[in-house]
Amino acid sequence: MFIGVIHEPQDARVALVPEVVKQLISLKYNVLIEEDAGRRAYFSDEEYQNAGAKITNQDEVLQQADILITLHPLNNTQLYSLKKSALLITLLQPYFDIHATELVAKAGISAVSLDMIPRTTLAQSMDVLSSMASIAGYKAVLTAAQYLPRYFPMLTTAAGSIPPAKVLVLGAGVAGLQAIATAKRLGAKVEAFDTRAASRDEVQSLGAKFVEVEGARDDKSAGGYAVEQTEEYQKRQRQLIHQHASKSDVVICTAQIRGKRAPILLTQETVEAMKPGSVIVDIAASTGGNCELTENNAVITHRSVTIVGNSNLASEMPQHASQLFARNLFNFLKMFTDKEGNFVYDLNNEILKSSLVVRSGEMLYKK
Ligand code: NAD
Repeated sequence: MFIGVIHEPQDARVALVPEVVKQLISLKYNVLIEEDAGRRAYFSDEEYQNAGAKITNQDEVLQQADILITLHPLNNTQLYSLKKSALLITLLQPYFDIHATELVAKAGISAVSLDMIPRTTLAQSMDVLSSMASIAGYKAVLTAAQYLPRYFPMLTTAAGSIPPAKVLVLGAGVAGLQAIATAKRLGAKVEAFDTRAASRDEVQSLGAKFVEVEGARDDKSAGGYAVEQTEEYQKRQRQLIHQHASKSDVVICTAQIRGKRAPILLTQETVEAMKPGSVIVDIAASTGGNCELTENNAVITHRSVTIVGNSNLASEMPQHASQLFARNLFNFLKMFTDKEGNFVYDLNNEILKSSLVVRSGEMLYKK
């Protein structure tokens, strides 16, 4: 079977790296890589060739691939170039917007949406959401440090002392926890906030202070994800965040509710209460943002506060992001590959059952 990877101009990452190509070949797959696909992630065509892949043009990859792996959904021309028997493995986010999944179904092929893989212990090694979120949390803090006209660490110098920066992290999931750890390493004083009670210990174990609003709805049946809060709770939450944000130099926004618009946690009034020069990095930007003023894929300044709206920060560290994505993909493919190197549609397996959203044009995804 042929596994294909194409060049995705909107992203510096690439879906497979040479190290993983080699492993896939040992599972008896053939690998086709579009020329220059890995260039912006610092993987050369030569390295892919040395690992055993064939370098070719996009048309040939699309026409020959039995399995095509991408970071982003395809356009219609690309979808209709695939064989009807092909399997597309990508991120379609059907719970947020069904449109991309419907296009795949119309094209008559099959698709796995990696964001639908259940967040269980067994599937942890395939969890691209966690791999990318962790990078985003790290990069968010570095981005904030770059825009901040102040130091992060406390310094005692001959010219007097500098207090440590105060960083507030909203949402303490995978990205938030990495942001806390990174801000701590840079010497900041860190506070964090989440609605899930389970995150309190994790925040505290990283040396940050947990800011709590009593009375959050925490639904154990939501598979580890947060659920929407009552209007009353949200109001109290915004008031408390206002108090903490107005004393912070940096706010990192990571709070998300699967399938829904991200909760608004920072109002315009709160931004206007922040100190001049402060920075907000909103990695929930693509689902609306946690800050009312965030513009997706833009850096804006509102009354001397910089607001960075970027949900694709993993793409700004493309080499390791590609490596981790590709390793997650290998772990997924390995589970469903037989001894002859064929992909087996084992629908008794919970991981494939949850993530196979389209089978030969039939929509399997149900909200
Ligand atoms: P996410 O990206 O969906 O959300 C980020 C964080 O925002 C979450 O912690 C969420 O609780 C928080 N949030 C939502 N609404 C909020 C609000 N109004 N105010 C403050 N915070 C709010 O989440 P994620 O990072 O993908 O992880 C969610 C959970 O899944 C975590 O518990 C994580 O540990 C767990 N997880 C488990 C596995 C596994 O077992 N394989 C893998 C990854 C993540």
